[in-house]
Amino acid sequence: MIKKLLMNSRLPEKHVRRRDFLKILVLSALGSGAAFKAFSNTAEAYIGSISSPFDDHIRDYIYKMKHFDSPHRDDIKIDRAVYYTFKSMVKRLNRLEEVVGHGRFHVLSFDKGIKLARDFSYIGEFSRDELNLLEDLFYRDATQYGFLGDKTITGITDRINKSDVIYIPEHGNYLYKGRSFEMFNKIRQQAGENVTLTSGVRGVMKQFLLFLNKAYKNQGNLSLASRSLAPPGYSFHGNGDFDVGQAGFGALNFTKRFTTTVAYQNLCDLGYLKLRYELDNPLGVRFEPWHIRIT
Ligand SMILES: [Zn+2]
Repeated sequence: MIKKLLMNSRLPEKHVRRRDFLKILVLSALGSGAAFKAFSNTAEAYIGSISSPFDDHIRDYIYKMKHFDSPHRDDIKIDRAVYYTFKSMVKRLNRLEEVVGHGRFHVLSFDKGIKLARDFSYIGEFSRDELNLLEDLFYRDATQYGFLGDKTITGITDRINKSDVIYIPEHGNYLYKGRSFEMFNKIRQQAGENVTLTSGVRGVMKQFLLFLNKAYKNQGNLSLASRSLAPPGYSFHGNGDFDVGQAGFGALNFTKRFTTTVAYQNLCDLGYLKLRYELDNPLGVRFEPWHIRIT
């Protein structure tokens, strides 16, 4: 990752320095064994100790993560020149999901999606410009947005093998057979039926849809989207992680209020919340107490 950051020489020097610094800070926090919580302590101690224009960047980073759902001055947005293409492509992705169905769309591959769009006039074929934009977005280094997590899926056409996953009809989601499925069943047995599967396996197309819908609702703001959703290719939902919620709690399951539910309390008591994105995590992602980490 550091190599990747250093290679990004098109960035102004101060940005490269800031990212290197953040990454070193992150690695030192992780290396200390105190894991994520050490990050905010280290960062806050650092802020308290020195004051210079360089420190403003660190302060800025922490401020952004606390206000993840608000736009910030230097957020990266979709280029104005391709905004029309972006808009039509997002709408097409939503029509594609409508046709494929909410459940099946989770595991739809990129190639299959492109083909279906061509075959169904209601969706309409993705234009060359739309495909170029999708490719550009997929292969872009997400550290540009401020997202510092690892890439888990490297190819846009990588597909989920149908025989590796199992559909859970009552929750409308898929889980990987083996560890994910077993862990979810164990959670249900131990924590009770009030725990639901709110999001399971997500392939490239599903992650595109979630991430780009979020950016679209926020004037094409890719940085803002990346603070609450991993960019396509960077989601651990492609690798077995899943989200849980409290039955009947709806969209509130994806807010801080989830921590007030019985389901959350049960999961905590049983020790299941080995989180991917903890409070004050250093990866540029909001706190996600509903996300169950498999590896
Ligand atoms: Zn998740």
